[in-house]
Amino acid sequence: MSEHLLAYDREHVWHPYTSMTDPTPVRMVTGASGVRLRLDDGTELVDGMSSWWAAIHGYGRPELDAAVRSVDLAHVMFGGLTNAPAVRLAERLVSLAPAGLERVFLADSGSVSVEVALKMALQWQRGRGRPERRRMLTVRGGYHGDTFGCMSVCDPDGGMHSMWAGLLPEQVFAPRPPAPGGDVEGWAADFRRLAAEHRDEVAAVIVEPVLQGAGGMWVYDPACLRVMREVTDEHGFLLVLDEIATGFGRTGELWAADHAGVVPDVMCVGKALSGGYLTLAAAMCTDEVARGISDSDSGVLMHGPTFMGNALACTVALASLDLLVTDGGGWAAQVARVGARLTAGLAGLPGVRTLGAVGVVQLDHPVDVVKATQAAAEEGVWLRPFRDLVYTMPPYVATDADVDQICRAVARAAEVG
Ligand SMILES: *Cc1c(COP(=O)(O)O)cnc(C)c1O
Repeated sequence: MSEHLLAYDREHVWHPYTSMTDPTPVRMVTGASGVRLRLDDGTELVDGMSSWWAAIHGYGRPELDAAVRSVDLAHVMFGGLTNAPAVRLAERLVSLAPAGLERVFLADSGSVSVEVALKMALQWQRGRGRPERRRMLTVRGGYHGDTFGCMSVCDPDGGMHSMWAGLLPEQVFAPRPPAPGGDVEGWAADFRRLAAEHRDEVAAVIVEPVLQGAGGMWVYDPACLRVMREVTDEHGFLLVLDEIATGFGRTGELWAADHAGVVPDVMCVGKALSGGYLTLAAAMCTDEVARGISDSDSGVLMHGPTFMGNALACTVALASLDLLVTDGGGWAAQVARVGARLTAGLAGLPGVRTLGAVGVVQLDHPVDVVKATQAAAEEGVWLRPFRDLVYTMPPYVATDADVDQICRAVARAAEVG
């Protein structure tokens, strides 16, 4: 059974960032519970990736399973209609988000929420009579998704901008912000100079706050965010914070922006929003931004995904947000515990950095992904290294023993990969 499916998969099914003719091997998952994935051969692996950072409460959570089963209306179009779970989720997000982010666009994936955020910035500038402000100012080392607008604000090298030259909007890139304790002043001078130089064409600054994820797992000094807030206020740009990877406690604060006490004009959330059960994201903005857009020539925000406000996904997201504050004392206690254990378990490895429940080891060479993955699997752990990075973002419910096992696997993967 599994063999037939794996053979068909190899011939016909795209996997992320792979060749169709020479794909790297995949493993067949048949089930999952707690922090463990179950494979077709009966092997169990502790998931050190939380399914790309989404499954923060682990798998098969009775509360989330019950939420899925409770739904009697899975989906209804959002144009001209609405549904209670979508409205309740918007209400909950507004209550959790930094003060002032009160208008909610429910999107069907993180990339779409970033596209919506970019569009909000462009339409807002139009509404203010500044249609020539059409570029984004961002920093190197970022990742915001794989659609074209998103790609344009990803790191130009990591995002392979040379491959898309002429096709991607050309954005303005400041240097990557320095690590905590680094030369914030020097970086800020460059950032201010670029902003001033391009003030007539920039609509918004967009960045991932404090932790840059898929662009290289870089942690930067929160003071840089305060510089960005000052600069955007000074020039009348919007500040868009992409909290898709960092939101819901992952970095040790509910929002990574809280490390700096900064409130953005637009914020994107996704990934952990539905506890890893269903695809869901949101772009939230202030009342001022919403009004500005509605005053623009079109008068409306020009976006509307088919599955906007999906009732099933919103129901699970509400249950996941309930767990976030109640489970085992709440996310803060869980993330602090997992983070401390990670920091202890990874100490001494090369190029190690940790923040919240994130642990990263940076090698001095590109990782052999197949070998490193295999080494981790032999330790009973699922990891998916990329570039020169072996990293983990465990589910918040991982026990001390689970985290220790993950750390051993990271060490092994870093050694052989
Ligand atoms: C994953 C990610 C995205 C894209 O989200 P998708 O749901 O994969 O489209 C955007 N921004 C950040 C910071 C991400 O980590």
